[in-house]
Amino acid sequence: MPELPEVETIKNELLPHLVGHRVSGVTLFWEGIVRQPTAEEFCFRLIGQEITGVARRGKYLIFSLTSGEKLIFHLRMTGSLLLKPASAEPEKFIRAIVHLDKETKLYFRDPRKLGVMWLVEDTNSIVGKLGPEPLEADFTPQVLAQRLTNRIAPVKALLCDQTLIAGVGNMYADEALFTARIHPLRSGKGLSQDEVEGLHNAIQQVLRTAIGNKGASVDTYFRPDGTLGTAHFEFKVAHRLSGKFCPVCGTLIERIAVRNRGTYFCPRCQPEKARFY
Ligand SMILES: [Zn+2]
Repeated sequence: MPELPEVETIKNELLPHLVGHRVSGVTLFWEGIVRQPTAEEFCFRLIGQEITGVARRGKYLIFSLTSGEKLIFHLRMTGSLLLKPASAEPEKFIRAIVHLDKETKLYFRDPRKLGVMWLVEDTNSIVGKLGPEPLEADFTPQVLAQRLTNRIAPVKALLCDQTLIAGVGNMYADEALFTARIHPLRSGKGLSQDEVEGLHNAIQQVLRTAIGNKGASVDTYFRPDGTLGTAHFEFKVAHRLSGKFCPVCGTLIERIAVRNRGTYFCPRCQPEKARFY
């Protein structure tokens, strides 16, 4: 699933091609991709509007429009947004096309049909419950500590909770916990102050590195020009197939399920009991 670095890359790479351009038409091959309003009203209200901005919040992509409305995307498991020339041939798994002026169109490709679009006046009706942005200045170690205090859930599950921190999912939670040497099943409240500070640094570090590498193409993630990101080549534990060894200590990487999410970690670098240095 695309997480913060993937959606940030898509935002950065779409922005220069979309801002200032007008929506000349919309084609829906799968009406279920429109969550709000009705498919008919969605097309009616969107056509003719100019895109004035492209932003990201958590894993959501937000287009600002001249009317003040927002066109919001969530790519879920297998969605991608691809920029194509207007003359491009139809492809498999395209659920919607936003036609733009200047001979460009935007494909919403989604093999599993889980992606969603909304056209709304109030952005907060969709993203209002998200936690802080982990790369913003107001996300401090103290903020993370407050959010983990009194939480008995496994820290892996807490990191993936979008109301706790926005944009971190399965891959980057595993990477951040490995970097911070914290076992994924430890409880939020059981972490020491030093561990929370280390985890805070690790979250920012793994996200920044992955943005620099244009996201991780482990599943069906593509950049808008159809090329792949390279962030997964630097993964230490996430999405490791069984039989891989820890790049730090050489121990076999283990896979466990944490709240139904496949979770990879090094049992030696990330011991189950807290370490005291
Ligand atoms: Zn190790």
